Amino acid sequence: MRLHEKRQDIEEDVARILKEKKSIGFVPTMGALHEGHIALVKNALANNDYVIVSIFVNPTQFNNSSDLVKYPRTLNSDLKLLSDTSPNLIVFAPAPIEVYGVNQSVLSYDFDGLEHVMEGEFRPGHFDGVGTVLKHLFQITSPTRAYFGEKDFQQLQIVRKLVSIENLPIKIIGCPIHRHLDGLAMSSRNKRLKDVEKENASLIYSVLQEVKSHFGTKSVDELKDLVAERFKNNAFFKLEYFQIADSNTLQPILERKNDCKYRAFIAVFAGEVRLIDNIALN
Ligand code: AMP
Repeated sequence: MRLHEKRQDIEEDVARILKEKKSIGFVPTMGALHEGHIALVKNALANNDYVIVSIFVNPTQFNNSSDLVKYPRTLNSDLKLLSDTSPNLIVFAPAPIEVYGVNQSVLSYDFDGLEHVMEGEFRPGHFDGVGTVLKHLFQITSPTRAYFGEKDFQQLQIVRKLVSIENLPIKIIGCPIHRHLDGLAMSSRNKRLKDVEKENASLIYSVLQEVKSHFGTKSVDELKDLVAERFKNNAFFKLEYFQIADSNTLQPILERKNDCKYRAFIAVFAGEVRLIDNIALN
């Protein structure tokens, strides 16, 4: 494994790899790595000659400044976790100036409506920040394939749109959600949960499973009421949104059609910590 912090250094490394006509898998992360991230890295290592993992807490995708300040940063233990994966692993852990230059400007994207719902509605500007940072990181790393978790399913669909808008020759690979034994989706933000919140956080996935089990029999409105009921007066979790949406367009639905794929999406607050999850319904 080797670590680069400077843009110029990784660009030279990438140029050398491309000259050898080797493939590059890219796994962008914000660090505080867990098994979900490691699964993406292993998938990338199995299918590419070299893998670049970026560890960069991207300031432009945070709509809430306290969330940015409190986002866990654990570079030393991240490097330790990655150090015994493969000699062909390259970590890029830059300061913002290496990615953005001096003015940190954010592009404004039209992702065909994917960006207006759910995370886009509740985190204004978030997906412009995601699109902008990925455009820079894709340019720096020139990947053959890039790996993203279904944990952030809306982001995954937006990245697919981004490469088509920007006309980039990158294959986007979606990877399944990794969960703790109790069902809680692994997330860097889980590190900020209090013990009592962690002990009760299985509620989020169990509600999604309950929705899935009733998807054939209850209406969308009934399912929304059910979810609202499960979180009503809950001492630890506050529901921000729950939606059932078409898996491709991400547009929320009122009624299901037989030939479409749907997913349920949820965002909840545990105190100040915001958690998201989703599940395929059919
Ligand atoms: P993050 O560091 O949270 O920005 O995540 C980096 C990448 O890892 C994104 O593509 C996420 O979707 C993915 N990821 C995060 N948590 C999980 C998880 N529990 N299972 C699978 N992928 C995940």
